[in-house]
Amino acid sequence: MVMGDLVNEVDVVVIGGGPGGYAAAFRCAELGLETVVVDAGKRLGGACLYEGCIPSKALLHVAAVLHEASLAKDFGIDFGPPRISLDPLRKWKTERVVGKLSRGLASVAKSKGVVVAGGHAVFEDSRSLRVGGDEPQVIRFAHAVIATGSIPARLSGVPVSERVMDSTAALEIPEVPERLLVIGGGYIGLELGQVYAALGSAVTIVEMTDGLLPGVDRDLVQPLARRCEKLFAAIHLDTRVGALRETAGGVEADLGAKGTERFDRVLVAVGRRAATDGLGLAHTRARANERGVIAVDERCRTADPRLYAVGDVTGEPMLAHRATRQGKVAAEVIAGRPSAFDSVAVPAVVFTDPEVAWCGLTEAQAQRDGRAVKVAKFPWAASGRAATLGRSDGLTKLIVDPESGRLLGVGIVGPGAGELIAEGALAVEAALLAEDLALTVHAHPTLSETLMEAAESLFR
Ligand code: FAD
Ligand code: NAD
Repeated sequence: MVMGDLVNEVDVVVIGGGPGGYAAAFRCAELGLETVVVDAGKRLGGACLYEGCIPSKALLHVAAVLHEASLAKDFGIDFGPPRISLDPLRKWKTERVVGKLSRGLASVAKSKGVVVAGGHAVFEDSRSLRVGGDEPQVIRFAHAVIATGSIPARLSGVPVSERVMDSTAALEIPEVPERLLVIGGGYIGLELGQVYAALGSAVTIVEMTDGLLPGVDRDLVQPLARRCEKLFAAIHLDTRVGALRETAGGVEADLGAKGTERFDRVLVAVGRRAATDGLGLAHTRARANERGVIAVDERCRTADPRLYAVGDVTGEPMLAHRATRQGKVAAEVIAGRPSAFDSVAVPAVVFTDPEVAWCGLTEAQAQRDGRAVKVAKFPWAASGRAATLGRSDGLTKLIVDPESGRLLGVGIVGPGAGELIAEGALAVEAALLAEDLALTVHAHPTLSETLMEAAESLFR
């Protein structure tokens, strides 16, 4: 289908093979559309599989194992100090975890008849795409789905180097630096900060706002902040790094009022930027804003009738599962189905220890909107399951409409919160009442009971 210099017209070309792109391509193929995915790396998986969700979660699993083993001392089991070998660790992450999933995606593409082409894609106009790489080619299409994702945001005046890493470099674990400076106390800073701390680095976090995970309900962040205070060497809030200066032995960071400190490496984790530079959008009717973000409607349509966009390139929240859902919507709309991205509860999970998860309306957002809500909380100190795990530091909270009793949002902090939030997302998406959660029998002893208990507290 895609061979030689000029290609016959395909029904759909998808630019970018990440979770948004491959979901769109697979759904297009299922709906009978001839589909080509163009990815710069000529493989499916995108940032999520190779430099995001999956490698970071593999490393966080390692951190969790180290932490669990250290906690076992409390009940009389001492495994002794861990001996960490980085080569087998990297090999496990890259080959056994990422490699396995990568091969799986390639075989799904093959079985669905989706062609994966390699090279950087640039729009020539609203009907054709020039693809560079080993075999440059032009692909003409009826519809295109832009799923080019995002790239790490840079700090102005701070070039990436061997010592000043972005998340992609940090995930390779080039070494375990004695002293690591993490700039940004958001998702990546905290997840990878915890990984490096578990491996033995003294981690300093610098966050420019007055709290970790800005925007997230403070009572959900508090248990995580307490854990981070123990785990990290220092957390500097309300602080920006003035300048970074590389010296022979490390990197000197100007921490403003906190003085100048020397670190062995730095991780810059200050957000991500939509990837539209060099895509040739100017040759089409679709446009990106100054942050590279392409505006789409609920059907994932851009301003160009032939072009759709899904995933990180369409802005926040930059999450893989949102990209995937949008990808399926775009495919269905192209196939003429009445599909729309109308999810009200896209769950967010920070996979730290403890995990923080939320979906739907947050208490902070309700306050910002001046919206009256009822908040029900169940602290895990009263959970039998949490006690058996030696982890009573969690909290489950429900945000409920005071008139109707409808669940508007759910927030959870504690180990396993990322799994538990699925029940909250289903409940909010299905417009269940808090009473429905209270009346649903939850198995005992489980952490899921905390959702039922929180709901029951509204009826006492
Ligand atoms: P991407 O996955 O970014 O894929 C885009 C693809 O397009 C890339 O392969 C790129 O090479 C290709 N491309 C770009 N431009 C072109 C072009 N012009 N021509 C050809 N190819 C092109 N999200 C979660 O939901 N859960 C997590 O646990 C999580 N953890 C993360 C951890 C880290 C360290 C990072 C960095 C991100 C994490 N994310 C997580 C975010 C998640 O990775 C993204 O939301 C997701 O990958 C977005 O998918 P996408 O399909 O929009 O784009
Ligand atoms: P983020 O937006 O989560 O956090 C960036 C943090 O850096 C913010 O707290 C911000 O206030 C701070 N900051 C910005 N500029 C700063 C400066 N100059 N000095 C100090 N602090 C500064 O971004 P991220 O952590 O880079 O992650 C990028 C995105 O990737 C996330 O927003 C999320 O969409 C996605 N992601 C998701 C997961 C997950 O789902 N578990 C994990 C990692 C990344």
